[in-house]
Amino acid sequence: MMFDKVIAAVDKKLERFDPIWQAENGVGGQRDRYYDKTGVAKWREWRGVKDTMVDYGAWLKNLASMAMMVASAPIPCLKGFWEYRWMGSYLGTFMFIDRLFEGFRGYELVTAHKCMHAIVRSLTKKIAFCLSNDRRLGGGKDTDRIVPMDEVLPPLFMMGFKELVPFPLQTLPEFIICDVDQHIEPYYIDVAESFGLPADVCSRCAAETGVALDDAFPLIGKAMISTNMPCNASEATSMFQRRRIGMPDFPVTLAMIHNEPGAHPYSTQMLKDAIAFVEKEYGVKYDWDNLFKYAKLMNEQNTIELEKWDYFKTPYSALCGIAETLYRLYAWASVNGTDPYFNKVDRQVIKIMRKAYEEKKEPFGGRTRHRAFLWGPSAVYYTDFPTWIQNCWGINIVLNMDSTMGHNMINTEDPDEAIKDLALFSEKATMRHHAVGGWDNVNAIWEWAKNFNCDMVLMNDNIACKGMLGVHALMEEQARDLGFHFIFIEHDLEDCRTVSRQDMRNCVNGYMSVVLGEEPLDPTLVEFDDSDAY
Ligand code: SF4
Repeated sequence: MMFDKVIAAVDKKLERFDPIWQAENGVGGQRDRYYDKTGVAKWREWRGVKDTMVDYGAWLKNLASMAMMVASAPIPCLKGFWEYRWMGSYLGTFMFIDRLFEGFRGYELVTAHKCMHAIVRSLTKKIAFCLSNDRRLGGGKDTDRIVPMDEVLPPLFMMGFKELVPFPLQTLPEFIICDVDQHIEPYYIDVAESFGLPADVCSRCAAETGVALDDAFPLIGKAMISTNMPCNASEATSMFQRRRIGMPDFPVTLAMIHNEPGAHPYSTQMLKDAIAFVEKEYGVKYDWDNLFKYAKLMNEQNTIELEKWDYFKTPYSALCGIAETLYRLYAWASVNGTDPYFNKVDRQVIKIMRKAYEEKKEPFGGRTRHRAFLWGPSAVYYTDFPTWIQNCWGINIVLNMDSTMGHNMINTEDPDEAIKDLALFSEKATMRHHAVGGWDNVNAIWEWAKNFNCDMVLMNDNIACKGMLGVHALMEEQARDLGFHFIFIEHDLEDCRTVSRQDMRNCVNGYMSVVLGEEPLDPTLVEFDDSDAY
C-alpha cells in the first residue's frame, strides 16, 4: 500500500516525461524522442515506474535470448554475419520491438511483451540451429535431418516424422526480417530484377527469388517441400528457388478455392503424397502418435485463440494491435503446435485477458475512438502500423486477417480423420484465407468486422498483388452500402521505395482529417520522416 503510494507520487512528479501526457498537454509527443529520419530514439519511453520496469525487464529477457543464441553457436553466428546480408538486419530487433509497443501500458504491455519474447526466444534458437547446420557454413550433425519447407505451409503435419526437423526456409532471410528492417528486401528485389524478373510482381515473391539468386538461403536438408501457397506469384518463386537450390522437391499444391467441400479430398491426398515423398527421400516412417502429440498442442493453441476472440469483441481486450497480430502470425505459421513454450505463453496471456475483462480495463487508457479490422500483410509490421494508428488517431486494431488462419481442431485418435482435418487447416494458411481463394474469402471481411464490433475496415492495397487489384472498386461499394469507415492503404509490401511509410500513413491522415474531421491524439505522429529507420 505504502509502496503504491510512493510509486504514484513518483509517477506524478515525472509525468511530464511521459509522451502520452506531453501529447495530451500540447507540449510534445512520441516522435519527439527520435532523431530525425531514423528509428533511433534519444531515450527510452517513460511510462511511469511500474510500466517502465516491465518494459526494461522484457528488454533484458530478449537480450538474454540473443546472448544465448551467440553463446550456443558462436562460430556459426560469426560466419552467418559474414556470409548473409540479412543476418545484420537482426541487429535492428531491439529498435523494432521498442517502436512496436510505444504507448502500451498496464495489461496490454505485459501481454505484448510475453508474446514478443516467445517470438524472440523461438527465432534466436532457430537462427542458431540453422546456422550450425548450414552446409554453406560447413554443416553440422543435424544437417541431413532437417526438412526445408516453404514458410507458408503449416509445419504441423510434418511432426509425424519423429527423427526429422521441419524448417520454414524463407522465414529467416525474408519473411520475418522484412518486418524488422524495411531496407533489407529492396536489395534482394534488385538482385531478382537484375536477372530479368519484371518489376511489377509482388515484392514478397521477388524478394524470395532474389534471396535464392543471391545464394542467401541456408543450405539444409536433403529434399524440399515447396508449395503453391498462397498464390500464383508464390508458385513462381517456388520454381526459381527449386532450380537455384537444386534439391529434390515436392510441391504441395493445395486447393485454391478451399471453401468448396469438393476440394478437400484433393488437398488431403496432397498431404498424403508429401508424407510419402519424405518417407522415400529420408528413409523414415511416419508416426501418427507423434503427430497426435503435437496436434494436441495446436488444438490447445486454437482453443485459447477462440477464447481470445470473445475478448477481442469487447472494449476490454488486454491483447490488441500489433501484439495480437504479430504473435498470431508467428505462433500459427511458424510454430503451429511444435513448441510447448507457446502453449505456456497462451495460458498466461488468457489469464491476464480474463482478469482485464473482469476489471473492465480498457487498453490504451480508454483513448481508443474506433475499432478496426485490418486486412494487412508484412507492410503493417515494418511500419509499426497498428501501434502508430492507435497512438496517432485512436484506432485500435482488434484483429488482422492473419489471425483468422486455420482454427479447426485436429482429430488426435484416427489417422484418416486427422489428415482430413490437417488439409482443411493447412488450406487456410498465411494470406490464403483473405487474399486469394475466391470472392467469398475476400468478402468475408465484412462479417469478421461486424462480429468483432468494428466500425472500421482497413484494407492494405498491395499495388502488386494481382489477386486483389481486381476487387478494389467492389470493396469501396460494399463499404458504402454496409456503413463501414473504409480506408485503402496503398503499399508495395516489402519494397518501401515505391510507397514509403509516410505515404501509407497519409492514406489514414487524409481520411481521418478530411472525411471524419477528427483531430490527432498525438500531433507529432501525423507527419514525420522515418525513411532511414530500420
Ligand atoms: S501479397 Fe498477394 S501476390 Fe504477394 S504473396 Fe501475398 S497473395 Fe501473393
